[in-house]
Amino acid sequence: MIDNGSLPSAGNNLDPWYSAYAKRTAGLAASEVRALFAVASRPEVVSLAGGMPYVSALPEDLVIGAMDRVMHEQGPVALQYGSGQGVPRLREQITEVMALEGISASADDVIVTTGSQHALELFAKLFLDPGDLVLAEGPSYVTALVIFKSYQAEVDHVPMDEHGLIPEALREHIASARAVGRRIKFLYTIPTFHNPAGVTLSWERRLEILEICRENGILVLEDNPYGLLYFDRKPPAAMRSIDEEGVVYLGTFSKTLAPGFRVGWALAPHAIREKLILANEAAVLSPSSFTQLVISQYLSEADWRGQIDTFRGVYRERKEAMIDALEEHLPELSWTNPNGGFYVWLTLPQNLDSKAMLPRAVTELVAYTPGTAFYANGDGAQNIRLSFCYPTPESIRVGVRRLATVINGELDL
Ligand code: PMP
Repeated sequence: MIDNGSLPSAGNNLDPWYSAYAKRTAGLAASEVRALFAVASRPEVVSLAGGMPYVSALPEDLVIGAMDRVMHEQGPVALQYGSGQGVPRLREQITEVMALEGISASADDVIVTTGSQHALELFAKLFLDPGDLVLAEGPSYVTALVIFKSYQAEVDHVPMDEHGLIPEALREHIASARAVGRRIKFLYTIPTFHNPAGVTLSWERRLEILEICRENGILVLEDNPYGLLYFDRKPPAAMRSIDEEGVVYLGTFSKTLAPGFRVGWALAPHAIREKLILANEAAVLSPSSFTQLVISQYLSEADWRGQIDTFRGVYRERKEAMIDALEEHLPELSWTNPNGGFYVWLTLPQNLDSKAMLPRAVTELVAYTPGTAFYANGDGAQNIRLSFCYPTPESIRVGVRRLATVINGELDL
């Protein structure tokens, strides 16, 4: 029985427990976009919407071999609870992965989490009280926004351009928030191959933004799932390589190996690290021993750097297919042209609304994510995120052609 002094009102919602939910769950409503995506998963629809890595480019025998050896050589350990911080050998190997992005770190400061998504959740749990302010790029990663909202924090979006977050705008947003007495808890940033914008923060701006955050006592949460998936040039080194004390860094094996393992990590200054370990233990006791050991085995026996090169080649080809198709079918529009990652950010003609247009697109058998999903404040109606990671180059060309039919149809209305 709900102990709130009154019976739940069926008039509010069909769920009889409606009035019992915690206030912070208000942000957990399924959007109408989500409902449309169920339709969009039909095979005849080209989905440029989701961000699913192309795991078929990972040879299955590499994974099967690693799993087999883990079970034969370390079965009882793999099947047991483990440390709340993660498997020590894997944490060592994670420092080698991060070294590729210029980070020098001790395995003691790495916490393994259930995907970097869970690291985001733990971090938010540690730092956010109701009414706190988080600074984030505009647009920003949709499921990070959902987490921040679920801790009843507000997000203030700082604009970007083709070189990433604009330092001057960051200064202005900090000053305006301070002027009205708001408490800024941290800056959440995806500096490299941004999701959804596809842009990368320049080296000069990395230095400047860290300096601004240092001056203002603002912690930086650097989320970097895509940094190793560059197409031509290597991106600038991670922000964490510049500042050890003021940056918490998040990494993952989801894009460089496979998301089904659900293994990511946080690298944090000592005090925060301790809190994150306690929060991890409270949430899951220990991350999966089995998948950590399989990844550790894979990293020690397979050519994982070569496998990342294979992924880079696959995604480069798909990105080129998408940009070529946009140039051919929608030459009057503008879009970002990423040098890595999974996403292109398209800007529509001024009077079109990406969310309103989606049902029509699905009817034309193409799906995308409307820009509004990536803002906490309803902005983004004029934008679309297009993902090129999962469909084949041929499907991408078909999808963009269908999208052009929809956009041109809307303009003719
Ligand atoms: N951050 C960003 C920016 C992402 O794009 C994603 C995955 N889409 C995640 C975090 C979560 O990744 P995972 O939990 O699989 O590591």
